[in-house]
Amino acid sequence: MSDSYDVVVIGAGPAGYPAAIRAGQNKLKVACVDEWKNFDGSYAFGGTCLNAGCIPSKALLESSELYQRAKDEFSVHGIKLGGVELDLAAMQRRRASIVKTMTGGITALFKANGVLGIQGHGRLLPGNKVLVTGADGAEKPLQAKHVILASGSVPVRLRTVPHDGKHIVDSWNALEFDAVPARLGVIGAGVIGLELGSVWRRLGSEVTILEALEQLLPIVDQSIAKEAQRHFKQQGLNIKLGATVSSAAVNGAAVDVVYTDAQGEHGLQVDKLVVAVGRRPFTEGLLAGGTGVELDQRGFIQVDEQCRTNAPNVWAIGDAVRGPMLAHKGKEEGLMVADLIAGHFAEMNYKVIPSVIYTAPEIAWVGQTEEQVKTSGRPYKAGSFPFSASGRARAMEAAQGLAKIVSAKDDDEVLGIHIIGPMAGELIAEAVLAMEYSASTEDIQRTIHAHPTLSEAIHEAALAVDKKSIDGINR
Ligand code: FAD
Ligand code: AMP
Repeated sequence: MSDSYDVVVIGAGPAGYPAAIRAGQNKLKVACVDEWKNFDGSYAFGGTCLNAGCIPSKALLESSELYQRAKDEFSVHGIKLGGVELDLAAMQRRRASIVKTMTGGITALFKANGVLGIQGHGRLLPGNKVLVTGADGAEKPLQAKHVILASGSVPVRLRTVPHDGKHIVDSWNALEFDAVPARLGVIGAGVIGLELGSVWRRLGSEVTILEALEQLLPIVDQSIAKEAQRHFKQQGLNIKLGATVSSAAVNGAAVDVVYTDAQGEHGLQVDKLVVAVGRRPFTEGLLAGGTGVELDQRGFIQVDEQCRTNAPNVWAIGDAVRGPMLAHKGKEEGLMVADLIAGHFAEMNYKVIPSVIYTAPEIAWVGQTEEQVKTSGRPYKAGSFPFSASGRARAMEAAQGLAKIVSAKDDDEVLGIHIIGPMAGELIAEAVLAMEYSASTEDIQRTIHAHPTLSEAIHEAALAVDKKSIDGINR
């Protein structure tokens, strides 16, 4: 006998668990199956984001930044400290306890919203059945009117750089080091590589990041990326662009890395090597034959704009489907699908998804870069404001970076907002809201921003678009 549900969600990451909760709020009978296990073998809801991604990385970024600021910056504020010492074990305990609290919170949220959380492996069978295999190997079929696939993604591994989890590691291992590596190598200067490189650099590692592309952060507005590059260099992050890693091998307690750049082949020895070359959709063991669910050429579950797969009443969301691999993108897709299943109106605005890189300074953006607008051929105007002219940023001893707005010349619509600077990840929310409501530059110019706040940088950047900045220089 199989239990029957209105909705069965496979995966309880930031895409799947909100979908399950919203389905519960919509008074649907819902179960959510998740197989995530931590290194100690314990099950935990929350997927990559809570266990091995967004949350633990931000915990360590915060701790490492405080350590670095206490060491190097507090004296500027007139605060004298004795010797500042790193207690990495305590820092890692804090990280682990935040993760535990957050993942435990999902169990409570499931209960509060009438979701049955099941820990085990879920496999979609034809006819909207989900076969659940529990920890003890026992199998239980669930019958569902609707199935939501939210199986997420896993790190890409390089065949010639064999992962051993100790010396050659992925981003998850690199969040759980129990000692600061003297020499850390990172393959890939993407978001994850830069965040992890920053953590360990601040804690004392000599960090070398090898990036195959000639350009740093090609997805970011290039004036912002150039500013970032300058800061990373000052921080001692050694980023080698145009450097393609061809192989690596463990050599005793170290790793020998071989990479090629315009000058030829080079060797680099490090103590730990993090492979951060991107993530791929994870669908292993997810689909039995004959379900009708199709994958695209890159292995993503194929879906339409509303996350419907090719199979009736089977939906897919999050990192397992096309679009940026971001927790908030998956969450919004999950809410949309759970509302559509309940017969409500729901849609997703893929044009207005913010991105944040939690380096120091932070980088955040929404909409099109100046380069993209230029390529589109639409006449545009742009303005920027440096945080060096922000009183609040000065008071914070964080007067670095800039805010920039790119707008259409014809109707003044805001096309993209780009920030590198203190709390950029928080500041971007205003930009997202403005763009979600199709704001014009004038709308932002006429919006009163509290003084002194970092958000004034967005106000001033909007003024600068029309060469009306008060506190900045209009170019
Ligand atoms: P996942 O979080 O991967 O969850 C999928 C879940 O499904 C997992 O628990 C998995 O075990 C389970 N599962 C898979 N198959 C099955 C099955 N057959 N049966 C049962 N369970 C199954 N994004 C941001 O937006 N902001 C950040 O700051 C950020 N930082 C990151 C830092 C790092 C180091 C990493 C690695 C990622 C980061 N990301 C960040 C990306 C973010 O983690 C992902 O976009 C997000 O987790 C995707 O959510 P998801 O629910 O689609 O998949
Ligand atoms: P992201 O996809 O944003 O996580 O970034 C991953 C980065 O890794 C990309 O910028 C790739 O160019 C880079 N990359 C992939 N393979 C290699 C390699 N073999 N050597 C160096 N960099 C690589």
